[in-house]
Amino acid sequence: MSRLGTETAFEVLARARALEAEGRSIVFLGIGEPDFDTPPHIVAGAKEALDEGFTHYTPAPGLSDVRSTIASHMGERLGYPIPESRVVVTPGAKPVIFFTILGVCEEGDEVVYPDPGFPIYESMIRFSGATPVPMRLREELGFNPDPDDLAGLFTPRTRLVILNSPNNPCGSVVPDETLERIARLASASDAFVLSDEIYKDFHFEGAHTSITRFPGMPERTVVLDGLSKSYAMTGWRVGYGVFPEVLVEPVVRLVTNSVSCTAAFSQRATVTALMGSQEPVREMVAEFRARRDLLLTGLNALPGISCQPPRGAFYAFPNIKGTGLTSEEFESRVLYEAGVSLLAGTSFGNEGQGYARISFANSRENLAEALRRLADFLAKL
Ligand code: PMP
Repeated sequence: MSRLGTETAFEVLARARALEAEGRSIVFLGIGEPDFDTPPHIVAGAKEALDEGFTHYTPAPGLSDVRSTIASHMGERLGYPIPESRVVVTPGAKPVIFFTILGVCEEGDEVVYPDPGFPIYESMIRFSGATPVPMRLREELGFNPDPDDLAGLFTPRTRLVILNSPNNPCGSVVPDETLERIARLASASDAFVLSDEIYKDFHFEGAHTSITRFPGMPERTVVLDGLSKSYAMTGWRVGYGVFPEVLVEPVVRLVTNSVSCTAAFSQRATVTALMGSQEPVREMVAEFRARRDLLLTGLNALPGISCQPPRGAFYAFPNIKGTGLTSEEFESRVLYEAGVSLLAGTSFGNEGQGYARISFANSRENLAEALRRLADFLAKL
């Protein structure tokens, strides 16, 4: 257990809620959760499923028609045929990370992962006993890895490479040439790839590219996806992975040993979400774009702060070095003195020092209020 880390977003949220309960006004920009309601037709689909009796266990990898719907949706999205047998449904997308790393890694293995990156990657790599090998995302390169550094990260012991594009927390999108180079290196090391594509619908410039586009990749890549972000369904707990054939059996065994299956009516709602109108997704992304523009302009006008334009996801990752505060001091003082809840960049790895993560999953009014509060706070520093 001493090797297992955590996701501090949930702790910061609890601290901010406690302050609110004491009567303080807090603007919540800490947690990565769309503030929209789940589209009503998806809610109706789940209610129908409950009335139809989808209230029991399902097969561990998921209901057959749900897996086949996901397989055809993912096949269309990724551009190659995906058999239903390669799809495993999980309670949220996080277990895809958990099960893949537990299923694949052991002591002596090396795992390349993004830093800054979603904290569960490093936590789970350490838990499995494998060695984490950080792939530095550099601000000068738009928070992307330096292509010239990549070859040095791979050794014959590299077992897994984790990618997350668009990236949490940086909002960066890995350029196609870099994806191609990583694909070649993964093939040469005979490593699996875990491609976390949970933010695939949230692109503000250009379209999504999956590493599976490159030769040999579909066979060695776990594609992680789910409903949490695209359809504002974080509480429904529906995620899924498209796994290489060889990983399906061990992952299903891990599902059987832990959660048994994903909630039956949540699985049924997946069919409604994927087959129904995608208009609500487009509307959400358009609103996120407007918020991004507002936040970016506001942050770059603040003294001591500069921010690159997020190209995807719904996070800004401003450089706060000019304030003279560490990331941890910034997070804590902004919460207690300004009433704005955000996260220290170091919550996402050592490379996050000097940065903060601001989620723009909140209304434009609240973002404008947060910017006013930050301006007052920085003026008094
Ligand atoms: N991957 C990334 C990069 C995420 O940011 C998140 C959620 N914050 C997840 C996976 C997990 O999503 P879920 O809520 O579906 O478990």
